[in-house]
Amino acid sequence: MTSKGSLLVISGPAGTGKGTIVKLLLQDEDYVVSVSTTTRAPRADDIPGVTYNFVTTEEFMNMIKNEELAEFAEYVGNYYGTPVKTIKELLKSGKNVILEIETLGALQIKARFPEAILIWVSPPDYETLGERLRGRGTNTDEDIAKRLATAKRELQFLPYYDYIVINEKGRAEDAVNDIKRIVSINPMAIKQNSNFIQTFYKL
Ligand code: 5GP
Repeated sequence: MTSKGSLLVISGPAGTGKGTIVKLLLQDEDYVVSVSTTTRAPRADDIPGVTYNFVTTEEFMNMIKNEELAEFAEYVGNYYGTPVKTIKELLKSGKNVILEIETLGALQIKARFPEAILIWVSPPDYETLGERLRGRGTNTDEDIAKRLATAKRELQFLPYYDYIVINEKGRAEDAVNDIKRIVSINPMAIKQNSNFIQTFYKL
């Protein structure tokens, strides 16, 4: 059995409450988060270097060219990506590494790190989504409309995920506990034990 940390991909429509869930997970010292690089302009609640590393489009294109990104995607007019170096360094710590990324990036991670656990965090219903986005107060109306349309498009990728966690209103703690339960049974998953299985059963 393996005792290394898991690579955890958390996706879900904007406004699902992923940010809150990740913050709560980070209160547990067994979890670390990968800080993404983006060309999006910082919002009022962003802290450069903590929520994101903010770069110009030219800098982002250079990162792609130099193969510095494990995955990247364009989302509502901006680029977002995960540096390879960040994932590798965090995985070495033996902790559970969280990537809070959208669907196209998640599929690239699944191809590159087949052992990654893909978790879809869902709001309980579509209305809650809009409410949460508007309640955030940091997105423009146009941005909110685009994010809601993107949320619908992203649903087509749901079958590629391993688990779905519903984030009920005011119950983020429950969603966090669900994610921890998924992580705790993960060492027993067949896909995490391919070396053991191939050696022992000589497949
Ligand atoms: P926001 O602009 O609200 O911070 O993020 C917009 C979307 O980009 C969210 O769905 C978020 O999960 C996703 N995202 C953040 N960082 C990355 C990343 O490094 N790669 C990818 N593919 N998506 C990301």
